[in-house]
Amino acid sequence: MTAPAATFDNAFTESEERRALRAAVRQLGTRYDRAYYVNALREKGHTDELWHEAAKLGHIGVNLPEEYGGGGAGISELAIVLEEMGANGCPLLLMVVSPAICGTVIARFGTGEQKRRWLPGLADGSVTLAFGITEPDAGSNSHRITTTARRDGDDWVLNGAKVFISGVDRADATMIVARTEDARTGRLKPALFLVPRTTPGFEYRAIEMEIEAPEKQFQVFLDDVRLPADALVGDEDAGLMQLFAGLNPERIMAAAYSVGLARYALGRAAEYAATRQVWKQPIGAHQGVAHPLARIRIETELARLMMQKAAFLYDSGDDAGAGEAANMAKYAAAEACANAVDQAVHTLGGNGLTAEYGLASLLTASRVGRIAPVSREMILNYVAQHTLGLPKSY
Ligand SMILES: Cc1cc2nc3c(=O)[nH]c(=O)nc-3n(C[C@H](O)[C@H](O)[C@H](O)COP(=O)(O)OP(=O)(O)OC[C@H]3O[C@@H](n4cnc5c(N)ncnc54)[C@H](O)[C@@H]3O)c2cc1C
Repeated sequence: MTAPAATFDNAFTESEERRALRAAVRQLGTRYDRAYYVNALREKGHTDELWHEAAKLGHIGVNLPEEYGGGGAGISELAIVLEEMGANGCPLLLMVVSPAICGTVIARFGTGEQKRRWLPGLADGSVTLAFGITEPDAGSNSHRITTTARRDGDDWVLNGAKVFISGVDRADATMIVARTEDARTGRLKPALFLVPRTTPGFEYRAIEMEIEAPEKQFQVFLDDVRLPADALVGDEDAGLMQLFAGLNPERIMAAAYSVGLARYALGRAAEYAATRQVWKQPIGAHQGVAHPLARIRIETELARLMMQKAAFLYDSGDDAGAGEAANMAKYAAAEACANAVDQAVHTLGGNGLTAEYGLASLLTASRVGRIAPVSREMILNYVAQHTLGLPKSY
């Protein structure tokens, strides 16, 4: 189907509503800037005020259905929120997980009761959900996960372990990807469960990470975790489809996280290069300084365009089309971000490593996009196989 010209143009020119949303998030950023973020982390270990205020303004639940208190918009809008927060030096990784993955899956596939229970809180920011798929012995190969859900009467009993799960300590519940046994074939198939944090047998332990961020990562242990029947999200037989429906928003939001952070680092570097003078002119007058920044600006803009394309396809209901674009966007944004922070640190010379300028501490955060939610190599594998038609290599 050929898209009408007006729709096509909209992919390049943001509507007035979207520009207003960007401006509103930037306005919030005048109070919640990088200095706030760093101080809040040091003093309290969280940035909850920013989360709650953004939610009150409708930013956190902008993609959730209006009838449950959300903004009724799409992933395009949620990506705008995260990108602008990142561009202001305050990226919130939990936005990738709580409203984007979990909110989307519940809104699209949850039962009426699940929607009433979870969505209003996700929309107003009073509830957050974590998402757990990665396992210690499965990693990039999520087909190998072994967390198992067994039926026991009306209940489900979960056993297994997860690793690197973000935000578990503050989330009201974690959406756990487990496997159930297919009654016909006996094979294990994925299913999603909402596990409230205080459920007996659900334990978590923080992993010491070298990332300055409000979200901590956790090992999660599920030891005979007994859940009522309605903890299963949606349909037991549609687990894989539901999972994939959550993964496109996840990749688009991961791209938004990286694009935002790239813009922040590039902004700091350009400011510095425009004023720092050790010869006759500012260092930014030297092409050796200016060109790498210009190149990264181009890379960031291209990644952003691909992110907008992926979000546009996803919001139009084209899950399959969005898959390739979302993977490419995540890849391109992660590379742009890692390059942007690396070059920004270098542009500031010694100041690039000082606490005063605060750029070196972004080096680890800027690498997250290359690893999570899916690594750079797994995207290259995907594109090699699905886009180029090459044989599966692993
Ligand atoms: C900050 C952070 C937050 C996270 N938050 C969450 C979360 O909230 N929920 C969640 O479920 N997970 C989360 N993760 C986990 C993340 O999704 C995984 O780390 C990621 O999928 C990679 O898995 P792994 O770490 O086990 O690496 P591995 O699978 O062990 O891979 C290690 C290296 O080998 C490469 N590799 C592996 N297989 C292949 C192959 N076939 N071909 C080429 N290269 C290959 C990888 O690209 C990688 O470079 C988070 C991770 C981080 C760092």
